[in-house]
Amino acid sequence: MKNKPFQRVLLKLSGEMFKGERNYGIDPKFLDFLAQEIHDLKELNIEIGIVIGGGNIFRGLAASMNGMDRVTADYTGMLATIMNALALNDALKKIGLESRVQSALELKEVTEPFILEKTLHHFEKKRIVIFAGGTGNPYFTTDTTAALRAVEIKSEVILKATKVNGIYNEDPEKSKNAKQYKTLTYLDVINQKLKIMDTTALSLSMDNHIPIIVFNLNEKGNIKRAINKETIGTLIQ
Ligand code: UDP
Repeated sequence: MKNKPFQRVLLKLSGEMFKGERNYGIDPKFLDFLAQEIHDLKELNIEIGIVIGGGNIFRGLAASMNGMDRVTADYTGMLATIMNALALNDALKKIGLESRVQSALELKEVTEPFILEKTLHHFEKKRIVIFAGGTGNPYFTTDTTAALRAVEIKSEVILKATKVNGIYNEDPEKSKNAKQYKTLTYLDVINQKLKIMDTTALSLSMDNHIPIIVFNLNEKGNIKRAINKETIGTLIQ
């Protein structure tokens, strides 16, 4: 019997993905690909929240190591996530999808504030909600934001999109012998320091029993496969 697809999901997109084939910034070709992948989910009639990173533009920790004040650097990183969110929102609208950007930092000309009740209202109207601005606090990451928003919206799963097929014992881009894990526990990932997500994100997901699927976004159809509960990537639970 076919599995019933997840009904409400939280998709985490790292900023790095937005670079596409470029070294920096946002690749319009990647945006078009991503928008089409999201468009292809329409027939599933599910509710989708998206958390976006900012690493393609600015990372707070890296900037602070070069001398910038950490808190200021982190706010700059959070602003970078808003840029990515606006770009994705635009790409979704261009292909006829209804979406809204809700930001943890106030930028009222172009985003709504994150208000859970409003998010749920958008879901009822089958709008996609893009969560921008991270948690709104320095010293956090957008992976932690993904876990937090997943808990708040009662998502059934976190879909963590990456450039590789899942979690490996070694870096698959550096080692031919790297082996992919099919499943891991949250504690495996933390204890083995597998560096796929930070500990705060993992422990928040663990405490709230939200499974995480790490999968390759660049393979067409993979978001849909993950939502349809096909076995892809690495499952953390
Ligand atoms: N950031 C932050 N608080 C948050 C989320 C993000 O301060 O709640 C900052 C932090 O400086 C981080 C940057 O925003 O480096 C971009 O986010 P992240 O590195 O998580 O993006 P990704 O790796 O997913 O591209």
